[in-house]
Amino acid sequence: MAIERTFSIIKPDATARNLTGAINALIEKAGLRIVAQKRIRMTREQAETFYAVHKRRPFFEELVDFMISGPVVVQVLEGENAILKHREIIGATDPSKAADGTIRKLYAKSVCENSVHGSDTTETAVVEIAQFFSSNEIVG
Ligand code: ATP
Ligand code: MG
Repeated sequence: MAIERTFSIIKPDATARNLTGAINALIEKAGLRIVAQKRIRMTREQAETFYAVHKRRPFFEELVDFMISGPVVVQVLEGENAILKHREIIGATDPSKAADGTIRKLYAKSVCENSVHGSDTTETAVVEIAQFFSSNEIVG
């Protein structure tokens, strides 16, 4: 299995509750390495670009408002099968449907304020990483 990289966000509901360390512990326990990380305040434009695929969905405005409501921690994670592995520890989008022990089951407040993001394919991972990190900021 090849070593992959994926893009992760610790969302504003989680940074507000001081959950960065608890979430990072679950990421590292799963065997993923945090090879880049920074705490930022997203601009509206950055959030709209990041979630452009959802532009026509009824929750788009609520989602963008939420993503800029407080600081986020953007990360690059590296490891074997990183994209799928990360999605597994995140859990389902709706926390009421997320499996026990997943980040969203443990910490998410609602389907919108669901604590974390993870890329869903190798293609989106490349695009999402490039939106927030230059290559010299990623140290594997
Ligand atoms: P993410 O892309 O953030 O990792 P995901 O892939 O599990 O999450 P998507 O369908 O891509 O889910 O939705 C992106 C984000 O939009 C969700 O994580 C959540 O914050 C928000 N969202 C999704 N569905 C709804 C909804 N019905 N109402 C409000 N917000 C929603
Ligand atoms: Mg998604």
